[in-house]
Amino acid sequence: MSSPISKSAFIKSEQCLKHFYLYKKHPYLRDNLSKEKQLIFKRGNDIGVFAQQLFPNGMDVTIDEKRDQLLFAKKTKELIDSGETTIYEATFINDGLLVMVDILHKENNQWIAYEVKSSLKITETYVKDACFQYYVIKNCLPNLVDFNLLTLNPKYTLDKKLDIQSLFKKTSIINDAVKNTDYFLHKTQAAKFTLEQGKIPDIKIGTHCFHPYTCDFLGSCWKNTSIENSIFTLGKLSKPTLFELYNNNIKTIEELPAINENEFLNKKEIQVQIEAVKKQTEQINILEIKTFVSIIQEPICSLDIEVWMPALPFYEGTKPFQQIPFLFSMVYKNKGLNETYSYFKPIENDNRLAFLETILDKTKSFNTILMYDKSLEESVLNQLAELFPNYRSEINVLKQKIVDVAELIQKANYYHPKMQGNFTLKSIAPIINTEFDFNALPIQSGITAMYSYESLSVEKTMFEAQEIEEQLIKYCELDALVTLEFYHYLASKV
Ligand code: SF4
Repeated sequence: MSSPISKSAFIKSEQCLKHFYLYKKHPYLRDNLSKEKQLIFKRGNDIGVFAQQLFPNGMDVTIDEKRDQLLFAKKTKELIDSGETTIYEATFINDGLLVMVDILHKENNQWIAYEVKSSLKITETYVKDACFQYYVIKNCLPNLVDFNLLTLNPKYTLDKKLDIQSLFKKTSIINDAVKNTDYFLHKTQAAKFTLEQGKIPDIKIGTHCFHPYTCDFLGSCWKNTSIENSIFTLGKLSKPTLFELYNNNIKTIEELPAINENEFLNKKEIQVQIEAVKKQTEQINILEIKTFVSIIQEPICSLDIEVWMPALPFYEGTKPFQQIPFLFSMVYKNKGLNETYSYFKPIENDNRLAFLETILDKTKSFNTILMYDKSLEESVLNQLAELFPNYRSEINVLKQKIVDVAELIQKANYYHPKMQGNFTLKSIAPIINTEFDFNALPIQSGITAMYSYESLSVEKTMFEAQEIEEQLIKYCELDALVTLEFYHYLASKV
C-alpha cells in the first residue's frame, strides 16, 4: 500500500504532476534544500509552536513519537475520543490523503482549526492549502465548524510585554473551503491516478517550474538545459518569453536570430548580453560610465547595511518583521590601500540611536557613498529619520551622497559573459578579483545574515557569539569592498 498523499505532495501535484510523481516515487532525486529555505522553514515552525500559547495546555501529537505520521493520526484520534479540547499538530488521514493542522481547538462542543503562517499577508496559496486541509479533516471530524489562518498582525506594536492575542490576526477561510470541496475531489483523484500509472508523467519544463514555488527537481529535470550559453542564462527576459524561444528550438544564445521580431529581444539590456556571449568579451558603455564617474566626488567610501527582521517583535515599539539595522561596514581608500570600518549592534539592546549616530559620524567626511542596490539602505535610513526626527536633516545629507552602482549595471552599461544573466554583486565579484568569493564565506546572503544574527538571541557561549559576529562582519565587509573595487574597475575603463 502506498503512503498517503500529504498536503505538500498535493500542492506539488497542482503545480506539475511530474513534480508530484517524482516527490512520491523518486524522492532521492530532489535537489538539496538551500540554507535559506531551511531557515525559512525553521522560522515557520518556530512561529507555529509560539502560536500554541494562544490555546495553552494542549497536547502535541508529535511529541515523543518517531516521525511517523500514521502514529500521529492514531494519537490524534485517541485524544479526540478521550475528550481533549486542544491538540497541536493534529493529524488526519482520509481516503489516502493526509494533513496536519497546527492547532485544533474545541469550543462549545465544536472544533475549530488554526493554521499558523509566519507572514503579514494571506496569499492565494495559503488559502488553497487551508482549503485542502479542511477537505480532508471535515471527513474525519464532522463537527469541524471553522478553519482559520493565523498571520502576524502588521498593526501590532510591542509594548512592555508581548500580547499574543493582538500579535496574531485570525482570518476564516471556511466559505472558500466549503465552496471548493468538489474541486479537491477531482484534483486528488487525478493525483492518485497519476501514481497508479507507475511511470513518470511526460511533462516538459515550463513556467510552471517556478510557480507557485521553485520545483525541488530542477537538478534532474533541467539537466539537459545545462549547456554552454543556454538561453536560460539570459537575464531580464520574462520566463514566458524564454520558454517561447526554447519551445521554438532555440536552445542557446548563439542560436538567436540576428534580427528579432520579438520586441523583448531587441531591448538594449538583452542585446548587450547577447553581444557579450557571442564575442566572449565584457561589454562597456563608455559614455554612460564616463557620465557616472563624473558625478562621483572624492573622497568616496562604499557602505553596506545589514538588517534583522524578526517575525516576533523583539524591541519595545517595533512591529512584526520591522527592519532593525544591526551592522554596517564601510570601505575607503587611504593612501591607495583599502581601509575598513564596521559597527556591530549587540542584539541584547535596541541601540538604533547609537547605530545612527555612528553611521552619520563615520560617513560625514565622505562626499560620495557608493552602494550596490540602495533600496534596503534607503528604507533603513527613512525609518531611522522617522524614529529620530532630530537627525532628519543629517540623514538627508547622507542620502544625497549615495550613488547606486547597481543602477548602472541593471541598465546593462556593463556586462560580462561570466555573469550569466545574473546582475548581483555576487556574480560581479569574481570578475574583478577571483579572491572576492562570497561562496567561501560561512554567511553568503542577507537572509542567512539575518538568521545568524537572530541566533544570538538564544543563549550562546562567548566564543560562539564572537564567531557569529566575525562571520557577519566578514560578509558585510566583502559586500562593501566589492562595491568599491567594482567602481574603481569601471573608472579604470574610462
Ligand atoms: S522541473 Fe518543472 S517539469 Fe520538471 S518536475 Fe519540476 S515542475 Fe515539473
